[in-house]
Amino acid sequence: MSDIVSRFAPSPTGYLHIGGARTALFAWLLARSQGGRFLLRIEDTDRERSTQAATDAIIDSMKWLGLDHDGDIVFQSDRVDRHNEVIDQLIASGHAYYCDCTKEQVDAMRETARQEGRKPKYDGTCREKGLGAGENRVVRLKAPLDGVTAYEDMVKGTIAVENAEMDDMILRRSDGSPTYNLAVVVDDHDMGVNHVLRGDDHVNNTPRQILIYRAMGWEVPRFGHVPMILGPDKKKLSKRHGALSVMEYEKMGYLPEAVVNYLVRLGWSFGDQELFSREELIEHFSTDHLGNSPSVFDLQKFEWMNGQYMQQADPDRLAGLLCDFLSREVEEEEAAKVGKADFAKCVPLLQPRAKSLIDMLEQARCFIVDAPFLMYDEKAVKKFLTPEAKALLEELAPRIEALTDFTQETLEEIHRQFLEDKDIKFKVIAQPLRVAITGKTKSPGLFETMLALGKDQTLARIKRACEL
Ligand code: GLU
Repeated sequence: MSDIVSRFAPSPTGYLHIGGARTALFAWLLARSQGGRFLLRIEDTDRERSTQAATDAIIDSMKWLGLDHDGDIVFQSDRVDRHNEVIDQLIASGHAYYCDCTKEQVDAMRETARQEGRKPKYDGTCREKGLGAGENRVVRLKAPLDGVTAYEDMVKGTIAVENAEMDDMILRRSDGSPTYNLAVVVDDHDMGVNHVLRGDDHVNNTPRQILIYRAMGWEVPRFGHVPMILGPDKKKLSKRHGALSVMEYEKMGYLPEAVVNYLVRLGWSFGDQELFSREELIEHFSTDHLGNSPSVFDLQKFEWMNGQYMQQADPDRLAGLLCDFLSREVEEEEAAKVGKADFAKCVPLLQPRAKSLIDMLEQARCFIVDAPFLMYDEKAVKKFLTPEAKALLEELAPRIEALTDFTQETLEEIHRQFLEDKDIKFKVIAQPLRVAITGKTKSPGLFETMLALGKDQTLARIKRACEL
């Protein structure tokens, strides 16, 4: 156990997209790799943009990815009184003040600064006015006017900002609501967070947040900012690049461990190793290996990685997942007719080729139906189930039927004998046979497929094909 406490603090204004999931993963690994604690806080103070559906989706996605958090989820909206309490303390200690400048006045100050070649900012008009609470008044931090605020970013190295560059930021809006920077600092402090790893869209907030920590006399956590993910065209990652929400990948039949592995490699490396088990990630993760330049999302590599995990996965688990997927698309009653055992026979055959669970389900369909319901690809039937081919299949069938021992060896043997007797090459019979028993021109090895189907099913299919 170490005393590292890290957290993920999403705003539930949309589903958890893969960029957010990657941030969560890094923060989770930071804690787990050091035996620390990982906390989850939902930053739902923006009442208009936050939704319950998004909160649920974030929680579901984290669960699906296996990013477990310690303790209860903290909802930022429950903590507004505490945020205000801290603001009041800052006012009382002289670190914050009321300001009654109107928006127009502040805009004008900014404009003047711009014209004078200075950084546009609030000019401190009310800093020393000693105003009390009142309508339309905001509370601002009395920030230091000179000096530098610097910190060692876990990813970006030293970051230093001249205090003169920073505004006296607003801590409480005129409607009484605390601002984001204030709320984050209070929550992180109260939750005991000492390592903040987040997206680099927040890097400019950090020096401001440090000013609040200092004003309160609180210990400043370590910060790290991970660069964003770009599309292959080096533009901000978006839907058209395949950047979907985490649960959309679940629906597309990706395995969570593949998603985790793909995401971690977007910005983190350990030598040139590509595939990591969860245990290996926890063992090897360190922020020292987080890259400081944006990573490029590559859907093909993502698919490849999922395929790798499909190959390695426990067949029994995949069979169970295929049942789940089937039950999503057909009536419960229909799905109930197909059990794990029906999939279990074909899963090992399909594992070397399936890219996803959806892909595997597609390929598994011909295995799980009964002969009379097998769908035949019309083109394949036309091309391969010719009268001559059917005649051969009709002759072959009794030889299969005669087998008392239905194994790879006996199947190979009777086929060899059949080809010899008929003086034909295997390819003359191979595709017709494949189409007859699977309805398609592509399938795993013929004999393996027959074995997975079983003798009766194989024969029933050949018979049906001959009657087509
Ligand atoms: N709620 C913020 C966001 O979703 C993150 C805040 C933080 O990590 O400090 O962008």
